[in-house]
Amino acid sequence: FSFPKRRPTTIDVPGQTKSKSSPDGMISKEDSGSKLVIVMVGLPATGKSFITNKLSRYLNYALYYCKVFNVGNTRRRYTQEHHLTNQDSNFFNPNNSNSANLRNKWALDTLDELLDYLLESTGSVGIFDATNTTKCRRKMVLEHIRKRSPNIKVLFLESVCTNRSVVENNIKLKLFGPDYKGKDPDKSLKDFKERLSNYLKAYEPIEDEENIQYIKMIDVGKKITSYKIEGFLASQTVYYLLNFNLTERQIWITRNGECEDNVQGKLGGNSRLTSRGIKYAKALSNFIDEQRYKFYQEQIEKRHHAGVIKSKDDIVQNLHEDAEDDEVESGFYVWTSMRTRAIQTAQFFNDEDYPVKQMKMLDELNAGDYEGMTYKEILDKFPEEFVKRQNDKIRYRYPGIAGESYMDVINRLRPVITELERIEESALIVTHRVVARALLGYFMNLNIDVISNLDVPLHCVYCLEPKPYGITWSLWEYNDETDSFSEVPQSDLNTTKVPEVGLVDKERRFSVVPTAPPTSDLRSSDFLRRRASVSFSGRGIDVTNKVDQSKGRPSVLRSNTSENSNTG
Ligand code: PEP
Repeated sequence: FSFPKRRPTTIDVPGQTKSKSSPDGMISKEDSGSKLVIVMVGLPATGKSFITNKLSRYLNYALYYCKVFNVGNTRRRYTQEHHLTNQDSNFFNPNNSNSANLRNKWALDTLDELLDYLLESTGSVGIFDATNTTKCRRKMVLEHIRKRSPNIKVLFLESVCTNRSVVENNIKLKLFGPDYKGKDPDKSLKDFKERLSNYLKAYEPIEDEENIQYIKMIDVGKKITSYKIEGFLASQTVYYLLNFNLTERQIWITRNGECEDNVQGKLGGNSRLTSRGIKYAKALSNFIDEQRYKFYQEQIEKRHHAGVIKSKDDIVQNLHEDAEDDEVESGFYVWTSMRTRAIQTAQFFNDEDYPVKQMKMLDELNAGDYEGMTYKEILDKFPEEFVKRQNDKIRYRYPGIAGESYMDVINRLRPVITELERIEESALIVTHRVVARALLGYFMNLNIDVISNLDVPLHCVYCLEPKPYGITWSLWEYNDETDSFSEVPQSDLNTTKVPEVGLVDKERRFSVVPTAPPTSDLRSSDFLRRRASVSFSGRGIDVTNKVDQSKGRPSVLRSNTSENSNTG
């Protein structure tokens, strides 16, 4: 007897392995059997694009290169390039034989772009964002994929919406989308509803008999069914989708208040807060209390306005009591790392109103053998290691058994991220610089190479608010003198500029950059030369870099203060 031969499934755990063809630890080009095409299925306005964008954000964060390929975008591009008139609802009538060929062409063109990304480039997961609502279309898609690669895995993901208000909200969002933006809203609404009913005429939900691996997501995550799930990436996808919710809430992220090691510029450690740090901790609990109450009131107003809540008296006005009407979520968690400085920062939160939890996963990146040293000491004693880290900060792992890299921190934070996606309550996370950077990187969908340059000063709080169309965020700064927080104006946040290479020498306060500078620039010898001009004095880091610091930068940058200190 011999077992039938089966190709073993390869599992590439990102960040752990480095091969020649995949220097990032990503799935290599040759290993198409480990790559995944996710084919979306579902009527328009069932939240497909919302799901695909979030899923892609998560997979990229988890270090799998992932991209969404949208057939609607191909259609609009083609329409513009060929000077065609925009498609009205009749174009999507299943009996319209004139449009059927074009629709299939656009679908296959988009699919080819996706397959190029997976088979010819660095992609690990490609998401095919289209309706694919008939068996015949799904068969065509599957055959096309098989023709180009017999190994590649395919997962169908169907979104079904039974909740009227979710569909109605999605329809409203469509009117601001690329097909209807700027057009008469009444005509647009009528056209979109007719388009929807045309799709309904031909809709065939996925059935087990189709013999494909699939996930069915009912009401954007309320219920999930999965069938024949195979492979690591598909199971990671199911796990992530299980933790979806649409509740509006706030996620606040801050570092610990100033601690003794911050003042001395020492890495890691477990020191206590300074008196200045304690003052921040007190102010933080009052600030969050105010903000929580404000947000809760806004949610009540919003639902009242939308007619979900008939009378405001029906619901509990005091957020510290349990809300009887579960339409308005009033809960709030405080999660801290297990470092003394983080626990002390959360010490003024009243435990009854703010369940405080400590999590090891939120601890700062471990500097291994260099814990407790300053950067100057590392530079003096281990100059080669110092340069190695500057050269590749994301992948550099500190020496010593406990030493970690950014990649390690990103990986260990995955359960925190899925938990943050799962809970319907708001939360404050009191953590450290590298962890804060990684979490912000996930929520703001930042390229991995940007994460290590994000400006996360002490005594500032980021606020993130997940919305149906993406995430909005704001930054609040504490002022010692006035003992109060104020919101940093968006104009100071510099969200649009790709930074000059010099940025990485000196973090800009409040800088959040949307895309990474090309890695080749980061590795250039010119860049390394500039690196060499970093010097140290007193506490914290003093940067003598000659790159023009004034261009597009807020003038509030103060070197040599603990706000700019480089400890976690
Ligand atoms: C579209 O054109 O917007 C679209 C989603 O196409 P299809 O229904 O053919 O997938």
